[in-house]
Amino acid sequence: MKAEIIAVGTELLLGQVVNTNATFLSEELADLGIEVYYHTVVGDNLQRLLDILNEAEQRSDLVVLCGGLGPTEDDLTKDGVALHLQKELVPDSDGLAKLEEFFRFSQRKMTPNNLQQALIIDGGISIPNPTGLAVGTLVTERETSYLLLPGPPSELKPMVFQHVCPLLKELFPTKEQLISRVLRFYGIGESQLVTDLKELIDQQSNPTLAPYAKPNEVTLRLTAKVTSQVEGEAMLQELEEQILAIVGEFFYGYGDENSLEETTVKLLAAHGKTLAAAESLTAGLFQSMVGNVSGASKVLKGGFVTYSAEMKTALLSIPESLIEEHGTVSEACALAMAESTLRLTGADLAVSFTGAAGPDSLEGHPPGTVWIGLAEKGQPTRAELCHFNRDRQYVRYSAAMKGLDFVRRAVLEGK
Ligand code: ATP
Ligand code: MG
Repeated sequence: MKAEIIAVGTELLLGQVVNTNATFLSEELADLGIEVYYHTVVGDNLQRLLDILNEAEQRSDLVVLCGGLGPTEDDLTKDGVALHLQKELVPDSDGLAKLEEFFRFSQRKMTPNNLQQALIIDGGISIPNPTGLAVGTLVTERETSYLLLPGPPSELKPMVFQHVCPLLKELFPTKEQLISRVLRFYGIGESQLVTDLKELIDQQSNPTLAPYAKPNEVTLRLTAKVTSQVEGEAMLQELEEQILAIVGEFFYGYGDENSLEETTVKLLAAHGKTLAAAESLTAGLFQSMVGNVSGASKVLKGGFVTYSAEMKTALLSIPESLIEEHGTVSEACALAMAESTLRLTGADLAVSFTGAAGPDSLEGHPPGTVWIGLAEKGQPTRAELCHFNRDRQYVRYSAAMKGLDFVRRAVLEGK
């Protein structure tokens, strides 16, 4: 079963819209055991759409098209597929009734071009659209199936979940399915991770192992092709154990959605610990990242943004003499900031950030030089020197991420 996805829309080619539908559809098809071999983006142009349909017909059993089901001139996906298959477009009675009801209810006059949204390809199965007006179609001809879906993800996703998945399961039952697991790592670069895991990567076939680098972290996707969920989970578990035996110290969590901030907040909550921060170069970014996580109120006490030296003295009582002697970009200043914050807020842990965000040097320290302090009840206060080399935003973000990891590790060590 070979499938491909064709996203239709000039806005995608212009870079104005990211093709997230292709990602989503690929994942859903993989779960159904349907392998996707190609992703194509084509503009709103009938001839180029016909060209790509000709190619797709030669090489795929299932061609999923998204976008261009709307009422306007540039929405020509249905026309294109109908022309390609030499079929008519016919009204879908449910789709038509919904369209008429929509205009009656909103007391607007329906223009003739709106009818286009209720058309399906003759001989095809109509796919209802729970959150919109454009009806989808699944039509099979000359041994290839064509699935037409609208562009807006808010319409496409419910259609896929509610109608397309059950339909494809019924029409294309497959014995094999793909099961995957994502491992997330902080504190190790992609090239180092790949080098450390070279042997495992070289010998992979099933399950497969794919690294993916994001700013400041790396993820590994483990994918097994299996006939049962239980078998798949066992295979992934074994591979995960092999991976963690090598690079386990950098592993922090699972899944596409579990960010470092989420992991850290959950860990603090699980241990009943509270957190505070004093931020110089990050200017509130760290606390904002923590605050983004739902449930942060159980964990985050608050803190200080002390960007200038005066504010470090005024709000955190950092002695002027300390700043004169050591400077603000210093271990002494990071330690003092963290300790004052712990005392003033009564939190269990307090992090501090002070450094040169760039692009200019600060107090003779090159941009990217950052001290991160950590004070913890009943523990000696510590500080780490970091060097982040890239632009200002990257330095500030990297510092906040490092702070999260610092806290996460401290909680794990203290438990
Ligand atoms: P409409 O009825 O809204 O016109 P449509 O089915 O005709 O829907 P398009 O006109 O192609 O779809 O796209 C409408 C919007 O949907 C785009 O402006 C974009 O925001 C979103 N969209 C389209 N294609 C994609 C895609 N591949 N990935 C993510 N979003 C998309
Ligand atoms: Mg449109």
